[in-house]
Amino acid sequence: MNDRKRTHFGFQEVDEGDKSQRVADVFDSVAQRYDVMNDVMSGGLHRLWKALTIARSGVRPGARVLDVAGGTGDLALAFAKKVGESGEIWLTDINRAMLTRGRDRLSDKGYILPVAQCDAEKLPFPDDYFDCVSVAFGLRNMTHKDLALAEMRRVLRPGGRLLVLEFSQIWKPLAPVYDFYSFKVIPRLGRLITDDEESYRYLAESIRVHPDQAALKLLMEQAGLEQVDYENMALGIVALHRGFKF
Ligand code: SAM
Repeated sequence: MNDRKRTHFGFQEVDEGDKSQRVADVFDSVAQRYDVMNDVMSGGLHRLWKALTIARSGVRPGARVLDVAGGTGDLALAFAKKVGESGEIWLTDINRAMLTRGRDRLSDKGYILPVAQCDAEKLPFPDDYFDCVSVAFGLRNMTHKDLALAEMRRVLRPGGRLLVLEFSQIWKPLAPVYDFYSFKVIPRLGRLITDDEESYRYLAESIRVHPDQAALKLLMEQAGLEQVDYENMALGIVALHRGFKF
């Protein structure tokens, strides 16, 4: 009998130990064209979703912020503008190609931020350090979401907040149209723009197997976060969950 633990990689079931390598392959493949593809796929809406995340962060000048799975740096850049010179923003990600791209984009805009390549499940930061931790479109790709959420809580200071921006469950009547767009249109756009249809098929599949709004709220509560709430954007295509550490 095979007693190795299994997990989702999109619609496939894989050994837990294999998932992170597969996720790494996806982001190695798309890193160079990631930002263009985000704009095309979402019609630019991801910028609004990220702007709302920043607005809900409560971050002020001088704050310490950790962006987990920060990729090409959109949130880190927006936070850096908010906290000013006295603040501290860390851009982190498990994937070197995404981080390199992020670091280059930030420095092109005149921001030199501390960057760390690390797994969200084992964050190299002390307890009780950050005022705010964010993770945008990253949690879905993590093998042990419970461990990652517990780590994000650990590094928050008491009173700090965690923001999780992620694809979620769309308003049911629109599901057929969204399915068509996700499974027929997005992989084709992926092929045209990044020459990689498979990675964008994984994107669509990974959204379908990710916990919905209520399930993610529960996961956050189980990780010890308090006063957890969420708001839907674009009829639930995306949800922003927020929780506090007290
Ligand atoms: N946050 C960025 C944004 O919103 O544009 C990038 C999101 S991208 C869809 C997902 C990111 O999650 C990738 O850069 C990937 O490398 C990262 N990631 C996946 N698993 C991770 C893990 N276990 N720890 C840290 N980052 C991870």
